[in-house]
Amino acid sequence: MNLTVRLATVFLLTLFSFMSFVGIRSMFVSSITAPEKTSVGLEPVPVAVVCLILMLLVCWVAFVWELPSVLANLRARRRLARGRCGQCDYPLETDCTRCTECGCELVPPRPLELSLQWVERAVLLLVGCWLLGVSVGEGWIQLDQRDASIRLIESRAVDPEVDQITWDRRWPGIGELRVRWRPLPDAGE
Ligand SMILES: [Zn+2]
Repeated sequence: MNLTVRLATVFLLTLFSFMSFVGIRSMFVSSITAPEKTSVGLEPVPVAVVCLILMLLVCWVAFVWELPSVLANLRARRRLARGRCGQCDYPLETDCTRCTECGCELVPPRPLELSLQWVERAVLLLVGCWLLGVSVGEGWIQLDQRDASIRLIESRAVDPEVDQITWDRRWPGIGELRVRWRPLPDAGE
């Protein structure tokens, strides 16, 4: 349960970073050339910075990471208040310092408060997921553009007159990409 919540948090944040990066990057790269590669549009770094700013919209998701420990804390305090072990819910005998069932100490957990540690962890989580999403996103864009270049080269094999094609961007990319033919310069020149 704890692991599921935490993995889901990482997954959601990374997915957000990935989708926003690929979406913005595909909108701002309008055309490429093949087989000699050049592209017209924004470079990955400014797009990544924009994505980091957009991560602020979902920064609250990072606190879902703390949910399992918050719930465990509340449950333990509620059980102790009812005269049961905070860990295993076993009814307690009077005047004991340890649970007779699971052996854990019967000290009430500290009350919950928003600590600096939480904020630090949330920032770390956001930056980590941002980096991961942006890196995978850039790889995704490069693969999509490579496939588009291959399509142009294949089209030219059928009809050498074809000198450009339009390519529908692969999800979550947005719009179309124009691929223009640009022969590689001769080695002698
Ligand atoms: Zn116990």
